[in-house]
Amino acid sequence: MNSHQYDAIVVGSGISGGWAAKELCEKGLKTLVLERGRQVEHLKDYSTMTAAPWEMPHRNQIPLEDKKANPVVNRCYAYKEDTAHFFVKDQDHPYLQEKPFDWVRGYQVGGKSLIWARQTQRWSKYDFEGPGRDGFAVDWPIRYEDIAPWYSYVERFVGISGSYEGLDTLPDGEFLPAWEMNCVEKEIQERILKAYGDRKFIIGRCAHLTQPKDVHLQQGRGQCMARNQCYRGCPFGGYFSSNSSTLPAAAKTGNLTLRPDSVVHSLIWDEKKEKVTGVRVIDRVTKEATEYFTKVIFLNASALNTNLILLNSTSSRFPNGLGNDSGILGKYIAFHNYRGSLSAGFEGFEDKYYFGRRPTAVMLPNFRNVHKQEMDFQRGYMSFYSAGRGGWGGAGDMNFGADFKEASAKPGPWHVFMMMQGETIPKESNFVSLSQDQKDEWGIPLLKVSVDYDENDELLLNDFLEQGEEMLSKAGCFNIRKTDSKQSPGLDIHEMGGVRMGRDPETSLLNGFNQMHLAPNVFVSDGACMTSTGTQNPSITYMALTARAVDYAVAALKRNEIG
Ligand SMILES: Cc1cc2nc3c(=O)[nH]c(=O)nc-3n(C[C@H](O)[C@H](O)[C@H](O)COP(=O)(O)OP(=O)(O)OC[C@H]3O[C@@H](n4cnc5c(N)ncnc54)[C@H](O)[C@@H]3O)c2cc1C
Repeated sequence: MNSHQYDAIVVGSGISGGWAAKELCEKGLKTLVLERGRQVEHLKDYSTMTAAPWEMPHRNQIPLEDKKANPVVNRCYAYKEDTAHFFVKDQDHPYLQEKPFDWVRGYQVGGKSLIWARQTQRWSKYDFEGPGRDGFAVDWPIRYEDIAPWYSYVERFVGISGSYEGLDTLPDGEFLPAWEMNCVEKEIQERILKAYGDRKFIIGRCAHLTQPKDVHLQQGRGQCMARNQCYRGCPFGGYFSSNSSTLPAAAKTGNLTLRPDSVVHSLIWDEKKEKVTGVRVIDRVTKEATEYFTKVIFLNASALNTNLILLNSTSSRFPNGLGNDSGILGKYIAFHNYRGSLSAGFEGFEDKYYFGRRPTAVMLPNFRNVHKQEMDFQRGYMSFYSAGRGGWGGAGDMNFGADFKEASAKPGPWHVFMMMQGETIPKESNFVSLSQDQKDEWGIPLLKVSVDYDENDELLLNDFLEQGEEMLSKAGCFNIRKTDSKQSPGLDIHEMGGVRMGRDPETSLLNGFNQMHLAPNVFVSDGACMTSTGTQNPSITYMALTARAVDYAVAALKRNEIG
């Protein structure tokens, strides 16, 4: 048992688990990170990192057989031949969809931090005030001021590129130099700003080292070269991942034990001590069961897996899942509404082009229901656009030769693409639960997902499509086409909730420091903790909440309040 005793245990080594590991280790705690997937070492295990297109047996396409066998993951735009090894295949890890839900997962050291799109925006005060003001979910137990210093703390280490804009709907952070808009994006930005006065599109903020600082160089990371092949793992460490950044920092302290291939089955509730004392683990490969013991646990297995682990942590004290006296564990799951997009043409600037690639788009903070409830739907959406020139096939049916070569090298007309990221309202009727009769190969009940859109989502989607059309038309775009992808919830890959934060144990599972009301040495700081979704990409908020929660947990340990 002694060899299985640690000061702290972190479940999951993805974006939030990497942060928990780094912070706990740097504060001197002997920390065990349990990761269900295989080891992925920075650089060494990025097998396609520098592969050329002709080295891909299927020219980077996914074979039909794989598409048929794994329809869910194949709907994710980033699942390609060069990245497939970082995604979970449906057939390897089944789950039950009571309603259609695309659950996209990455089970390996680093989790989805290897394959995320790296867009990072702070929440604003309006986002934290939203549920309390508009009367949905429960009031957040924290406000923007509580988390702002922690955003700064993680941004400095991660390296976020962005422009300083002074917008109260999207607070500025600690930025590295911003990426640049191209000439048409700038023109559209100016025209929309002129037309509306307050709709200012800005360059996207993202976790890329545009100009690394010492803190990044010390991590062994270098400047982003805009290869835009990030999902393969970056040879420069140019974007943030647990593998390139937080896990090495944790290892540097000498306090980290990382145990891949360790599937956490449940947490152990000691009936006599009346507290959680450890975790049960099944070895991924041998299926051998083990237990590890600790004073404090951070659950960072990703939103729905953290729900699963807690629901599966039953005892006579907690027959319905750990800390679940209120019966709300697994409920109030929410996500981001990505259904709406528009495409359009843009005339002019035919003599202009742009240089290189860019790992971000242009974005507009939410402008609906910000200062007060004013629409016939609740909350709002963030909008993104980008402009580019495609259609390099100008040669048509010309013969070979110099003319053909010249015509082929001419870019086609400008086109614009716009998309939404809408807030959804957490509801009791959107929930996850455990199958009573079906288990996976590690003996863990399958997760059942019952999550759907509602009327509010439809109204919000229609408003985005109308407003998007109006904005693009005022910007001089033509041939504007609106699309409702009708995609299932989940494909946004921003699933949140189920173990929400709040003030009252009757209506929430975690307090304002991500600590379980009824199991105070257990902290949940991945997406499961989210009381509402905001309109921002969520991961930077998970990172800030995690660093803040560790700071609180370690102080509480020192005061002997927990552990
Ligand atoms: C294609 C794509 C694009 C995205 N783009 C963005 C973006 O631009 N911005 C943004 O903010 N977010 C984005 N996301 C979402 C982002 O990846 C997640 O929000 C983030 O990774 C969540 O962090 P996490 O620590 O909760 O989970 P993860 O990073 O998924 O890590 C969880 C880890 O826990 C492990 N685990 C699970 N269950 C167990 C268990 N029982 N025992 C042990 N280990 C377990 C998993 O194997 C995994 O390694 C994107 C995701 C994808 C796939």
